Amino acid sequence: MVEANKAQDQATRLLTLLAACTQLRAAAADTRVLIEQLCDALVHAGGYAVAAIRLTATHSSTEDPLRALRVAAGHASLLWSELEHLDEPALSLPLEYAGENHGLLRVAHTDGPFDAMERQVLAAIAADLAFSACALRTRDTHRDLDDQLRQLSRALESSSNGVMITSSTQLDHPIVYVNPAFERITGYSAAEVVGQSGRFLVRDDLAQKGLAEIRSALRDHREGHTVLRNYRKDGQLFWNELSIAPVLDESGQATTHFVSIINDVTERITYEQQLEYHATHDVLTGLANRNLLNDRIEQAILLARQNERLVGVLLLDLDRFKLINDGFGHIPADNLLKAVAMRLTSCVRDTDTVARLGGDEFVVVLSSVDDADGVASVAAKILRQLTLPLGVEGKDVFVTASIGIALYPRDGEHGEALLRNADVAMYRVKEHGRNNYRFYTPEMTHMALDRLDMESNLRRALERDEITVFYQPIVSLKTGTIVGAEALARWNHPRIGMIQPIEFIPLAEETGLIIPLGERILHQVCHQLAAWQRNGLPSIQVAINISARQFRQDNLTDLLRRKLAETGLEGNTLEFELTESMVMHDVENAIVMLRELKQLGVALALDDFGTGYSSLAYLKRFPIDALKIDRSFVRDIDTESDDAAIAHAVIAMAHSLGLRVIAEGVENAAQLNLLREYGCDDFQGFLFSRPVPAEEFALLLQNGRLLPPPAGGKQ
Ligand code: C2E
Ligand code: MG
Ligand code: MG
Repeated sequence: MVEANKAQDQATRLLTLLAACTQLRAAAADTRVLIEQLCDALVHAGGYAVAAIRLTATHSSTEDPLRALRVAAGHASLLWSELEHLDEPALSLPLEYAGENHGLLRVAHTDGPFDAMERQVLAAIAADLAFSACALRTRDTHRDLDDQLRQLSRALESSSNGVMITSSTQLDHPIVYVNPAFERITGYSAAEVVGQSGRFLVRDDLAQKGLAEIRSALRDHREGHTVLRNYRKDGQLFWNELSIAPVLDESGQATTHFVSIINDVTERITYEQQLEYHATHDVLTGLANRNLLNDRIEQAILLARQNERLVGVLLLDLDRFKLINDGFGHIPADNLLKAVAMRLTSCVRDTDTVARLGGDEFVVVLSSVDDADGVASVAAKILRQLTLPLGVEGKDVFVTASIGIALYPRDGEHGEALLRNADVAMYRVKEHGRNNYRFYTPEMTHMALDRLDMESNLRRALERDEITVFYQPIVSLKTGTIVGAEALARWNHPRIGMIQPIEFIPLAEETGLIIPLGERILHQVCHQLAAWQRNGLPSIQVAINISARQFRQDNLTDLLRRKLAETGLEGNTLEFELTESMVMHDVENAIVMLRELKQLGVALALDDFGTGYSSLAYLKRFPIDALKIDRSFVRDIDTESDDAAIAHAVIAMAHSLGLRVIAEGVENAAQLNLLREYGCDDFQGFLFSRPVPAEEFALLLQNGRLLPPPAGGKQ
């Protein structure tokens, strides 16, 4: 009876346990929860002292094996490691399903060994558990994959980078997916682009280096990275920093798709381009700056070398730009520079370069020119173009420029030398009256080098007596004899040779060295004249040029007085040549000064007459004796009727004011005849003699050289 009851209890316990386990498995959502609940059921419903389940880890997952362990109340708690050494009889059942082992179920009994039925029931529970665990795991894996996909698509959808997936198994790589960022960046909706070839964003802008990289990455099924010019739906360009990567099939062998990540870097590239632009262009005019200029010259040289052509480098400096700047202010002056930049650009071909070096200095590079004449004609064209008025502040402003030209290969092998030499030539133009162009010649360099240190050079020249005086005869038109001479300064430089006054007088004036220099000239002339007198040469009057600065010196009369005393000369053996601007500058003082000089007997002449603006009538106020008609009038007197008329009128009016008239720069007989016809008194010019050293002049005087009688025998 007791036995029977016991067996029934056993059966009831096992059935209850089986039912509980079946229920738990049916309701299970999670493997871990399931094995814990099963362990609970084994302890509570099954009445076992210990229940433990261990599930082996799946090979794909990296997680630890799942384990659950329950110990019935009243039993000492256990660790997994102690399971093997239980006092109670224990049963271990492998969890097998579909021929695979999925873990172990272990239970320990409190009273006696496991009977056959108990073993069967527990084996059934183990088998069911193996099946459930397996099913749950598969479901978990699927759920994980789903989660991953969901996350991925969320990432894709919210990414700020555009993403485009194309199929690589079909021709033309049609688009299969684009994300919202793609739609935002490109302006195309997914519906518009899916099915189109992935290339369509490039449109017909196919001349891009980056395209080759992408093509080869697609061909080789590898990752690729580049920056491309792409076009939005509205046609606007955007810079696409594109990364593409192949997507492999499950076997990991074949590429099925390509993922393209589109990063709109337009802002960055625009900024970089701006930086680059600023680094190579002049901000005000948009012309090339010095950096770009150097590049362009080198490129032009390279090309010219290959094709045996020339490169012309024209350095252009606006004349008296400072006056415009001071007179109009900075902004109008800037506008003027912009207008000049446009004029210059209009004078050259697209392949030539116009650059601004800063201030009012520009450079024009003429590439591939045939000969110097071609360059000269561009220079002339530029000068002509600049003579047309430029509108500044509603006013017509006129500018002129001085252009120095250097040619590759003649004047330099590289940009630096060409620019330097063009600069040297440009300075020559400035010195010779501006508004012109000049080609560089090697002799200029000597002077240019000295120019750097011209002041100390000139100072040294004075100390070492390198400044000498040449004399140019002044000849009477009536008698044909030498009646005087103009003393003209020359710098006899030990290395360079004879330097003309135009090279150093302006600098001497600027630096104040004209004062000692003028004093030296006066000294030399006075002593020379005295020596000629002592030697019995015909007495003549020597004209000395006085600079504005000398004239403003208070002690000019003192100096003259001293020199006269020193040499015993009469004042009337000298004539001082002044210019109009000098006396007009401060009329009252000039009159006082001129009177003082006159008291010493010195004659006064107005030099370069005609180049200034004063009227003859105005000159009445000044105690002057003579006028020298400027060379520029005499030059064209025989060809330009205007010049002839002016010269004629000047001579007549000067005579009416009691002034003697001397014509400068007479080079041919035609000029001479006309001047004589107009009643001009004296002349000087190459026709009779160039300025010559004192000894040579003495010979001319001594030999009594005469002007050949005019044609027709009149004298
Ligand atoms: P300037 O006083 O008008 O001198 C006349 C210039 O004309 C001289 O130039 C002379 O050589 C040149 N000349 C004379 N006849 C002819 C001709 O037939 N054809 C041509 N093409 N030129 C002719 P130079 O000697 O070069 O002197 C240039 C200027 O330098 C002078 O012009 C004068 O303003 C200045 N200068 C020369 N010596 C002195 C000086 O001792 N002191 C100062 N302050 N200035 C001087
Ligand atoms: Mg003179
Ligand atoms: Mg003169």
